[in-house]
Amino acid sequence: MPPAADKQLAHDIYKEFVEIQSGFTTGATTPVAEAAAARLKAAGFPDSDIFVGGANPKKANLVVRYHGSGAAKPILLLAHEDVVEAKREDWSTDPFQFLEKDGYFYGRGVGDDKAQAAVWIANLIRYKRDGFKPDRDIIVALTADEEGGGPFNGIDWLIKNHRDLIDSELALNEGGWGESSAGKKISNDVQVSEKYVINFRLEVRNKGGHSSLPVPDNAIYHLAGALERLSQFGFPLKTNEVTSAYFREMAKIDPGPFKADLAQVAEGSKEAMQKVAAAAPAWNATLRTTCVATQLEGGHAMNALPQLAAANVNCRVLPEDSVEYVQSTLQKVVNDDQVKITITGEVGQGPASAMRPDVLNAVQRATESEWPGVPVVPMMVMGATDGEYLRQAGIPTYGVQGFFFDREDIRFHGRDERMGVQSFYEGQTFLYELVKMMAKTGK
Ligand SMILES: [Zn+2]
Repeated sequence: MPPAADKQLAHDIYKEFVEIQSGFTTGATTPVAEAAAARLKAAGFPDSDIFVGGANPKKANLVVRYHGSGAAKPILLLAHEDVVEAKREDWSTDPFQFLEKDGYFYGRGVGDDKAQAAVWIANLIRYKRDGFKPDRDIIVALTADEEGGGPFNGIDWLIKNHRDLIDSELALNEGGWGESSAGKKISNDVQVSEKYVINFRLEVRNKGGHSSLPVPDNAIYHLAGALERLSQFGFPLKTNEVTSAYFREMAKIDPGPFKADLAQVAEGSKEAMQKVAAAAPAWNATLRTTCVATQLEGGHAMNALPQLAAANVNCRVLPEDSVEYVQSTLQKVVNDDQVKITITGEVGQGPASAMRPDVLNAVQRATESEWPGVPVVPMMVMGATDGEYLRQAGIPTYGVQGFFFDREDIRFHGRDERMGVQSFYEGQTFLYELVKMMAKTGK
């Protein structure tokens, strides 16, 4: 547990952040950035080390630098300021009132991502007060609009406009958390890589005609055939450095009937991969690139042969699979040159962060000292966080928090979002020690 004064400071910043409505339609992120800046200034951080600015006046980000000796490149600590919308009538409590009840903190953003934001600021203030001398600068960035809904993503904006402020050797971010079950801590997860997203449009055009005179060459039938073939297809099952480490750790802690199979997956057994992928959608998605039809359009009248039929196919791609590979594979699976396949929107492909032993060792040591016996599990996640922007910019990013959530009751983005009171303070200590270790090079 942190000293009482540091607990109180983290609590107060957390409460202040949660009570600012920073969702895309209901508010701005600037008040969060300003609240953080005020806390830092009150703790003696000079104006010259604090930056508040963003894509527009409502979408400010905060960047603050705590100076080290300069022996190594900086470490960046990232968290986002915005939250997913929450409506009072959907919740049992007011989502923008920070409430402590029955051992939990309630409010929108208490898990995603204002706990980490508050802890980064509180801990930075504590380093300064403790006179901690790191070997590298510690940079904290609290950023706008991670949750989507607009063009104001803060880390994207900082990379494009103020790279110097956030340039670093590596970054810590959300995306990995502790898993518990029935009150028992199962694992402390570290997110090392993410799948990336490609949307493809499958489109068939046809001259059409009167529906009373049908011909076999029909746009809807071409598309339906293509989608039917896609539904029968699976990308090859495989593991990479991160996912084989994940399955190795899961094999140690999984209580279910797949223990032995998970261990064999880690060793590369294709047969075990088949079994495991068939057992759970999440394991399937960990073992392969997936592509699935998500939207349809077609036809223009009840009594006309269709001139257009189209579908959106949403792919979640393993970091090591290229865009070209996925597109040419789809083309082969569809096997119909009337079906045109094009990419919709932008593709944000970033490399996986390397499984750096220094990072994983530090996480392991901090985890062991706080929660002896709890394993650290490296993860590749299916969703996407701001880590994707940093990885694309060449800054390896690791999702690690040390906040534990019940794996059967994850409430991020949902109603009555909550965080265990004890878990919040334990996470504060964990991140304090972890960053301290990582900011010392040991040379
Ligand atoms: Zn988040």
